[in-house]
Amino acid sequence: MQKKSHDPEMLAEPDEAQRWRERDLAVLWHPCTQMREHPDTLPLLPIARGEGPWLIGRDGRRYLDAISSWWTNLFGHAEPRIAAAIAQQASTLEHVILAGCSHAPAVELAEKLLAIAPKEPARAPLSKVFYADNGSAGVEVALKMAFHWFRNRGIEGRHKFIALEGGYHGETLGALAVGDIPLYRRVYAPLLTEALFAPSPDAYLCEPGESPADRARRAANALRELLERHAGEVCALILEPRLQCAGGMRMHDPLYLRLARELCDEHGVYLIADEIAVGFGRTGTMFACEQAPPSLPSSASGTGSEGNTAGIQPDFLCLSKGLTGGSLPLAAVLTTESIYEGFLDDSREKAFLHSHSYTGNPIACAAALATLAIFEQDNVIARNRFTAARMTELAAPFADHPHVADVRQAGMVVAFELTNNGNKATPFDPASRIGLRAYREALRRGVLLRPLGNILYWMPPYCVDDEALQLLADTTRTAIDTAIGEAACA
Ligand SMILES: *Cc1c(COP(=O)(O)O)cnc(C)c1O
Repeated sequence: MQKKSHDPEMLAEPDEAQRWRERDLAVLWHPCTQMREHPDTLPLLPIARGEGPWLIGRDGRRYLDAISSWWTNLFGHAEPRIAAAIAQQASTLEHVILAGCSHAPAVELAEKLLAIAPKEPARAPLSKVFYADNGSAGVEVALKMAFHWFRNRGIEGRHKFIALEGGYHGETLGALAVGDIPLYRRVYAPLLTEALFAPSPDAYLCEPGESPADRARRAANALRELLERHAGEVCALILEPRLQCAGGMRMHDPLYLRLARELCDEHGVYLIADEIAVGFGRTGTMFACEQAPPSLPSSASGTGSEGNTAGIQPDFLCLSKGLTGGSLPLAAVLTTESIYEGFLDDSREKAFLHSHSYTGNPIACAAALATLAIFEQDNVIARNRFTAARMTELAAPFADHPHVADVRQAGMVVAFELTNNGNKATPFDPASRIGLRAYREALRRGVLLRPLGNILYWMPPYCVDDEALQLLADTTRTAIDTAIGEAACA
């Protein structure tokens, strides 16, 4: 076969992918994987490079990255502006200790994040940034800070966290303790600190005739009861605003955010918004917290109409994943002056002594700055509205599919809940491995989907074009049908 040396895709040998698979499985232990399923049950896909929303495999084929590489990628792979910022920073200052030293990327990024963070006019704005290395570490920072603040104030007994059922906040022990995904959590339960779980406002769980807003009110009432029952014991509520991702791309009415904000205020409990997955435009607004409706005049406390605007401001905002456009690990925890001041003291023990070796890494911060610049240069949030509308059109016909119980969307995320006969009451047996079967079929057709159990979803890089979306829709349909056909025969 004649090879064109200028086209790297043509360099792929048929056996090259296989060679990489073998080398990989000889030495690597992959994340979130039952390694025994490689390579026979679960194909391993060696990737050579990325280009826009496409991954180019060692087999020379192109795969549409329909899940943005675990929800991290925003503007496509190997984005030239982000790559240039990384290269520039790497040859200027690759890293320096952030305890006692300072550098421009960390300062500029903090300034920019605080400027775009969710704001409520009646509240002092988020004004301080603490960096961590990944989402889980960012969650740990917020949990530890909330707890430690009460300690520093001499307020004893507030050492519990409330989290939502179906929520996910990462895999380290502290983050796992406030997560509610049994598959990840159950085995480690003896190691985890106790958390209180409040019912999720998840609209999929609506009773017949109940609207998502009703569901949000019902979940908020349960939260109120929990707060009352544990008055004086809780330091913070942690939640994923608008969309519980790992829990199955479950969406809720943003009214819940307003109600939760009000309840936290009433009970003197901090609100931690985990926007690690939903931040940076994923659900249609820069941050999902912005979608909360204004408070009702009757419930606006104190100053009257002043607080009566859309959007809630959390006391801690955790960001990661899309923060660097999907290029490098970095997390930022934004918080308020009043929390920051709670740590100022003559005693070192009252300081927040948490650190990571790479805290505020300059290259990662430079990548994040390039990412924020692209939001402005390319008018990303406005453009996404068109892409999201196209996704709505392409997803609509799935509602009639005999095995689809729910089609839901929040901005640039669409999810399809598959059940045995399209009825919520008849979920598939997990042993039928519908998701795995759909995954394999989609890969055969050049699309990287990674279903969450029986939930298929689209979460593509924002640069996805119409042709790619059409491929995604066609492939999703085939993947569903093939998976269900296979499961029926198995
Ligand atoms: C991914 C995720 C995390 C954990 O982030 P990692 O970088 O994977 O540790 C935390 N919270 C939410 C909502 C996430 O989606």
